[in-house]
Amino acid sequence: MTARVLVVDDILPNVKLLEAKLTSEYFDVLTATSGPEALEILKREHPDIVLLDVMMPGMNGFEVCTRIKEDRETMHIPVVMVTALDQPSDRVAGLEAGADDFLTKPVKDVALFARVRSLVRLKVMMDEFRNREATDVSLGNLNEAEDVAFGPADTHILLIDDQQRGSERMMKHLGALAQVTHSLGDENEAERAREKNYDLVIVSLNMQTTDGLRICSKLRSYDETRHVPILVLVEEDDTRLLVRALEMGVNDYLIAPSDKLEMLARVKTQLKRKRFADRLRENLHLSMRLATTDAVTGLYNRHYMASHLDTLVKGLADTNKKLSVALLDIDHFKQVNDTYGHRAGDEVLHDFAGRVARNVRGVDLAARYGGEEFVVIMPETGTEQAEIIAERLRESIAEEPFTISSSDDKLEITVSIGLACCDASTKTSSEILEKADQALYRAKDQGRNKVVVAA
Ligand code: GH3
Ligand code: MG
Ligand code: MG
Repeated sequence: MTARVLVVDDILPNVKLLEAKLTSEYFDVLTATSGPEALEILKREHPDIVLLDVMMPGMNGFEVCTRIKEDRETMHIPVVMVTALDQPSDRVAGLEAGADDFLTKPVKDVALFARVRSLVRLKVMMDEFRNREATDVSLGNLNEAEDVAFGPADTHILLIDDQQRGSERMMKHLGALAQVTHSLGDENEAERAREKNYDLVIVSLNMQTTDGLRICSKLRSYDETRHVPILVLVEEDDTRLLVRALEMGVNDYLIAPSDKLEMLARVKTQLKRKRFADRLRENLHLSMRLATTDAVTGLYNRHYMASHLDTLVKGLADTNKKLSVALLDIDHFKQVNDTYGHRAGDEVLHDFAGRVARNVRGVDLAARYGGEEFVVIMPETGTEQAEIIAERLRESIAEEPFTISSSDDKLEITVSIGLACCDASTKTSSEILEKADQALYRAKDQGRNKVVVAA
């Protein structure tokens, strides 16, 4: 993944050093040597991430960060404070200013690339999420989403570490953010994690008897845990292990013993990432459902039905399978609208659709064809069986009057159904729909409330 990084530092050699390192990893680098210059570049260039020095004359890093996070146009850009680890007060100030991450000077390459990539991934996801949301909101599909506040009660972290004391300390701090499950670690850890939907897994790479790296690689290989954020705990000098973990797709790391604030900041970043990813996925499913569903009846819409029927008809070629299609048209529906109004008509359509959906089989697909016309596709079904299903549908409508909210009247509704069956000789979906339509016409002609099978 490539990204545009803005490096801000008042000392030119520092800027040049970071620029060289990032460029060698194929990042696109912009530079600034003061706060005001950085803000100007941010507005103009919209980089994907900012690496921000704390100590700068004039406007210091905290102030620059505060301004970035206050401005609606730039607040989504992640900011990494480049600060000295031995000054915890700096990090508190950084957190308060809204920094997304911290790096220690002198900056280690592994740390730099890992964190820049992780935060850029987060931002790409956020951007995508905002775009999709904007589209859905403007189409009227969604209300503008409020940021759902997640509490510790519905956030779950799995901590795998065999050091009792260190784990207890971490659990105490993490308790403010999540429910923490602690495990001393064994070979089946990843298998067990598949059962539960964790928001974050923290794995020590220094366990005595368990290979933490193997747990990470298994977590990445199972469908259920592939996307779970992983944070590893490593010893200061274990760069080799760390590099392998990062190559495996681990999201971030902490060097033991870790500072409380640093740990919390990194955990929060990963949890945020997870929530955005979850929301993005949910939203995607929702827009897909909206694109295939008819709003009044909740059934599939015509567009979806047609493309599905095309697929099924093509699948009949070279087989001796059959498929039946029923076309339903409510009798004298115009009278419902004329007598009780369009809104009552809609209610009837909704309830009618519900009866249809309840009276077809699980394999059948019910869709609204348009107006007061519906289609039921019955895969692997010949004429005789289809006629039984269609007859049952017809009866389910006629046997029980419909009710509407604006009147106490009981509405006697009936439906006419045209049935067509197709096999390998059928070429297109419109061919079979046409046959069903002709049968439907005959059903109307013969007095309505009837099922007629196409010749
Ligand atoms: P027939 O027995 O010959 O099918 O008579 P009909 O009145 O059902 O048929 P026609 O095609 O003349 O009228 C269909 C009516 O369905 C006309 C239209 O107002 C109504 N309609 C179509 N779509 C909707 C809808 O979404 N909501 C409501 N309330 N009415 C609709
Ligand atoms: Mg009609
Ligand atoms: Mg009709």
